[in-house]
Amino acid sequence: MASYLSKSKYISGHRCLKLLWTYVNNKSVIPPPSTTAQYILDQGTDIGILAQKLFPTGKLIDPSNFWGSINTTKTCLNLGIPLFEAAITSDRLYARADILAPDNEGGWYIYEVKSSASVKEEHIRDVAFQRYVFTHAKLKITKCFVIVINSSYLYDGDFKLNEFFRIEDVTEKADAISEQFDNEIPTMLSVMDSPSCPVVSLGTYCKGARYCEMIELCSADLPEQNVTTLVADNEGTGMKLIMDGIYDIKDIPEDYELNRKQEIQRKCTIENIAYIDSINIKGFLDSLEYPLYFLDFETVQKAFPMFPYSHPYQQIPFQYSLHRVDYPNAEPVHFEYLNNDDKDPRPRLFAKLRDEIGTKGSVLVYYDEFEKSRLKEASQFMPEYSEWIENVLERIVDVFEPFKNLYYYSPAQNGSLSLKKVLPALTGVTYDDLEIRCGEDAPRAYQRCREAQLTREEYDHLYSEMLKYCSRDTEALIRIIQEFRKLISA
Ligand code: SF4
Repeated sequence: MASYLSKSKYISGHRCLKLLWTYVNNKSVIPPPSTTAQYILDQGTDIGILAQKLFPTGKLIDPSNFWGSINTTKTCLNLGIPLFEAAITSDRLYARADILAPDNEGGWYIYEVKSSASVKEEHIRDVAFQRYVFTHAKLKITKCFVIVINSSYLYDGDFKLNEFFRIEDVTEKADAISEQFDNEIPTMLSVMDSPSCPVVSLGTYCKGARYCEMIELCSADLPEQNVTTLVADNEGTGMKLIMDGIYDIKDIPEDYELNRKQEIQRKCTIENIAYIDSINIKGFLDSLEYPLYFLDFETVQKAFPMFPYSHPYQQIPFQYSLHRVDYPNAEPVHFEYLNNDDKDPRPRLFAKLRDEIGTKGSVLVYYDEFEKSRLKEASQFMPEYSEWIENVLERIVDVFEPFKNLYYYSPAQNGSLSLKKVLPALTGVTYDDLEIRCGEDAPRAYQRCREAQLTREEYDHLYSEMLKYCSRDTEALIRIIQEFRKLISA
């Protein structure tokens, strides 16, 4: 039986026909979502269910049975009440609306629920596709809406559903997108039915707002130092080069226009040497004031505000590692905090940090926007700390800056400026011996400690791995400063 073109297939096909064909004909090769991606998907499901409460008279159509849900929808359309997961087919098109609500004038409104904090083009495309299918099935759809989360909503302990969500009328924007469907849909249906996968080379569409889930498969044949790893690539130069048939950084023509950072990267890659701007590294080191504090927060973030006086998606710090180095080559002194109960960690975490971080000396972090934002949020939440936090903010120095500005670049970074890449490239130290090795794993581990049924042994093990991981982040900063000193004295 020929398969239906659903919303998710349409969205895949709109991005790339190769992705659509694979989705329909060879789905098993598409990698499963990462733990974090799955967590986001699960949050989306929970938010969808929560949004149904905005329509208290609504009825859920059980989506687990394909034909059953379509037949039940047909019956329930006569009830004149909001329907959740209403499903319909028209020829080979299939749609399932998050919420279909009567407009009380014989027509219907379609609502698409997104766990995002803003309405994006892809959300409007989703709802436009749903409307197209429902309209072809002879339903009069008079308006399209996207329901998103109001990120400025401040949860004060008394949850207000109507303030948590924001509803945006996207009817006109959906009209504009719908004009593409008459051309796109027949092409997609014929690709779905084709016995062979269409040939599509890598392009700008692979990246989009987020990378395509097939990116590793499709780029498997690229050389390691390939053009998609170009640094500071806001112009999409890497993908443009791919479309011109240039894959290896070493093969970029000399007269090809690259920015300053990309030129440094190309030179280092061709000559297999590190670039060291000693003058600027020295300037960076000279700006540091002892004692040096090396600080790193770990945070957890949920769509639903986790504690009173927090917003949806607010990053809640639950852990920090702090190292203090009193003078050059002094033995570092370590402090740390990791919350171990279900209470709001912020008051205890910031009270402890205040006692340990002193009032003088540079505070070194990696990518200061993150730590600064957490401190500013803490200042709003606990105004009694605002003077102390202001002092810390003024002392922050970003160790990311020398890498962002390419005062140092090694081909071993492979175009990445992340701490996990610059640390081994510069010092040889890695995170490979740790169980938790990246910033995405830490909040998942924390949530497991909070929400999973762990034995005491499992809990203690995870807790100790979390301490090791966060500590490695601040040790990494110490090592980087030590290595910079060696570089400029060489
Ligand atoms: S990675 Fe690019 S070429 Fe490959 S399926 Fe995805 S969008 Fe298409």
